[in-house]
Amino acid sequence: MMQDTSDDSTTERNDDTEICEFCTLPIPKNSTNETDSNYCCSVCEEHAETEGELVPLKKSEYINTGIDAIDSSLPQGFPRDSLIFISSEPGTRGKSVIVEGAWRRLEKGEKVLLLACSDPPKMLLKQFIALEWNVFPYLENGDLKIIDCYSEGDTSQDLDSSSNAWNSHIDKCISSNKSVVSDPGQASQLKRKIDATLEYTKSNESISIFIDSITVMGSKMRDVTAYKFLKTMRSEYCKNRGFTIFANANYSGSGEEFPHEMEHIFDGIIDLSLNPQIIPGILIKEVRIRKIRAAMSVRDAKNFEIIEEDGMKLIKTENKREDSIENEDAKLKMD
Ligand SMILES: [Zn+2]
Repeated sequence: MMQDTSDDSTTERNDDTEICEFCTLPIPKNSTNETDSNYCCSVCEEHAETEGELVPLKKSEYINTGIDAIDSSLPQGFPRDSLIFISSEPGTRGKSVIVEGAWRRLEKGEKVLLLACSDPPKMLLKQFIALEWNVFPYLENGDLKIIDCYSEGDTSQDLDSSSNAWNSHIDKCISSNKSVVSDPGQASQLKRKIDATLEYTKSNESISIFIDSITVMGSKMRDVTAYKFLKTMRSEYCKNRGFTIFANANYSGSGEEFPHEMEHIFDGIIDLSLNPQIIPGILIKEVRIRKIRAAMSVRDAKNFEIIEEDGMKLIKTENKREDSIENEDAKLKMD
């Protein structure tokens, strides 16, 4: 289980430890470098003359997703400056990770940018509303911004916009917080839109970007362009500015669709799949952390369901996955 990370034996420094005046790191005792004793190496000594001082490297802040079914497998949380990939099998509702993840950040008072690629922004917002998560105040105060990568400027695709009072209300609420990318296949155009949308944010603000979905994004750009685009997003927004990016992808199992063979660029990978073996005849949804950089994780698959107003919640099944294959009588635990 979770360890106390402030272990005295590793963090306490003896009084006689020398600290490099430039990089501020402890100078190893067996260092044999022929430098001024105030510096750890000649490069630090040189740079101290030309650059003055080096601001200490910021340690990663750890956050939770706020989604119970996922956080239960991440006891320490994960570094905020991460690009997290959600690989979802059809039927597991991977989009709900995007919707709930965004909602949990808004609830914490943080800013959220949604890239709507596979549905019009209005449809994405309806998923929040269906769960009774009221995004209207966040649209008004600007905490929630949306980039429409779906309609390509063609509003005739919103066929029912005038037929339904809810649709026109949502349209009105998002009108000042939505920008449209006319050609989402152009990575440079999308990048400019994102930069412009994020321009108003202050340098110390925590922002999370949610992409639904990178499969669709990859199909609009060439795969290699989409790959470079995600790499740029990770280095500029996650690593340089400390933002979190969640990217959802629909995994059909063919292995051909974007993003394939690029797991190395993700800091974390969350798999959503269906397991037909727990209860015969019922496809139980499973969530599993496949990879997470610089954090502890429970790698077991856990069963979940999406509950109205509550989001993704773990469910208990009577039998564990390992023995359920033999046991045909496994049942959902119900009282
Ligand atoms: Zn140094």
